[in-house]
Amino acid sequence: MADPKGFMTTPRQDWPRRPVEERVRDWDEVYVPGALLPIIGRQAGRCMDCGIPFCHDACPLGNLVPEWNDLVSRDDWRAASDRLHATDNFPEFTGRLCPAPCEAGCVLAINQPAVTIKNVECAVADRAWEEGFIRPHPPDRLSGRRVAVVGSGPAGLAAAQQLTRAGHTVVVYERDDRIGGLMRYGIPGFKMEKHHLERRIEQMRAEGTKFRTSTAVGRDLGADELRARHDAVVIATGATARRELPVPGRELAGIHQAMEYLPLANRVCEGDLEISPLSAAGKHVVIVGGGDTGADCLGTAVREGAASVTQLDIHAQPRAGRDEEAEPWPTCPTRIYRLSAAHEEARDLRTAPVADADARLFAASTLRFTGDADGRVRSLHLVEVDARRRPVPGTGRTLPADLVLLALGFSGPDREDGLIDQLGLELEPRGTIARDARFATNVPGVFAAGDAARGQSLIVWAIAEGRAVAAAVDRHLTGRSRLPAPIGPYDRPMTV
Ligand SMILES: Cc1cc2nc3c(=O)[nH]c(=O)nc-3n(C[C@H](O)[C@H](O)[C@H](O)COP(=O)(O)OP(=O)(O)OC[C@H]3O[C@@H](n4cnc5c(N)ncnc54)[C@H](O)[C@@H]3O)c2cc1C
Ligand code: SF4
Repeated sequence: MADPKGFMTTPRQDWPRRPVEERVRDWDEVYVPGALLPIIGRQAGRCMDCGIPFCHDACPLGNLVPEWNDLVSRDDWRAASDRLHATDNFPEFTGRLCPAPCEAGCVLAINQPAVTIKNVECAVADRAWEEGFIRPHPPDRLSGRRVAVVGSGPAGLAAAQQLTRAGHTVVVYERDDRIGGLMRYGIPGFKMEKHHLERRIEQMRAEGTKFRTSTAVGRDLGADELRARHDAVVIATGATARRELPVPGRELAGIHQAMEYLPLANRVCEGDLEISPLSAAGKHVVIVGGGDTGADCLGTAVREGAASVTQLDIHAQPRAGRDEEAEPWPTCPTRIYRLSAAHEEARDLRTAPVADADARLFAASTLRFTGDADGRVRSLHLVEVDARRRPVPGTGRTLPADLVLLALGFSGPDREDGLIDQLGLELEPRGTIARDARFATNVPGVFAAGDAARGQSLIVWAIAEGRAVAAAVDRHLTGRSRLPAPIGPYDRPMTV
């Protein structure tokens, strides 16, 4: 603990964001470049070294937060990087994208703003890349065993890196044309620029991991052949089966799933398209769904030049602070008002004249869509609902809508490629892939990890799943494993 009084003398300071008017004109990350390093040493010095660090427990990866806070405040970046990479394969991803349940569990957060743990993590990772501390770690010797990882999201990448380093020959199969899963074509560049992904993929290639893109297992490569070619298989195909909105008018043109819209915008940034065929430019946009995916649609529509953007959330407006009864410290509150960068932009630019504070209308339920003579959507009709989702009489209203984006979440892995059926994988009642306490499915030698088995989750859980499944596969292949397993398949975030 470099500064025993740091938490009393230094106020919390977050990585500043660029001015709204500037950042909505590009797709770069929202943060001020270079503004984190000058402040982060003192911020890390706010860590109290409290003795029982709940932040460490609240992080699914078990990140050793107090240790690297101390090392950063002492300016020992190399050691901080080593401690961080001991538990997290991709801290520059989590440092940008994680909702930081660790900060909700920070002991300082009992009566003061938490330590900026996520910012410290990002600074350590970025500095480590700049200084050249991050290098490939190829294995000393090969085991002669071959492993297939299906899916290249954070779960598949973490599993592949761990297994490659353990000496196995790993091939990652990805149906998209580029590696990265939802980090590639779901999450927009203003949350994480893609060069962070490229750098890690290069590190993994140099370590020996092989990548096969544009290969949908089940369609382009049969499941039997996949099993015949490999000694073990990890299914990390994500949970991308989309939820629908079965209301009158859903069939009208101009109503799309968020994951039809976001990949096209990402492809414009990748240089594959000049303009997105679903661009929001000049359109009145309504996003149905109040979660992170909806917020990503909001930030994207604003950057594309929408005429207006409104986001509908069926839940009541959450309270500003934690509900101490229902979600006490150190749990991570789920119903709390959060102003993401996209909401800040929508608020400042007044993208939704009908909404109060930011672009969101809370307790709003969509009743139907109506369109024009050409079959294109023109309006969305909604009603306010109570806590039991019953319509409140007299609250019906109509919003102009030329582009409607459905961001209603995902029900489980999608089965279109046939992989699940070809393998004969058993599913849980909610549609995710069933597995035992060792991440093994009902098919010998086939394991499952990430959203495909856990259900829709977070990057940090996906990386933890990847690390844990790698330990299970390594043990299956060699009879023992020294790889760490930060979580079990049934672990869930802490609740009361
Ligand atoms: C728009 C959006 C924004 C999000 N933002 C955040 C955020 O800010 N922070 C956060 O923590 N989480 C966020 N999430 C959630 C997070 O992205 C996921 O929890 C995480 O990516 C899951 O990782 P995964 O590896 O299990 O699956 P995925 O990332 O979904 O990757 C699965 C991969 O498998 C591939 N695949 C599927 N079937 C096959 C097949 N048959 N053959 C070959 N390949 C196949 C897919 O193409 C995909 O590339 C967001 C999700 C969405 C949709
Ligand atoms: S990965 Fe997420 S929960 Fe873990 S230390 Fe980093 S920000 Fe916190």
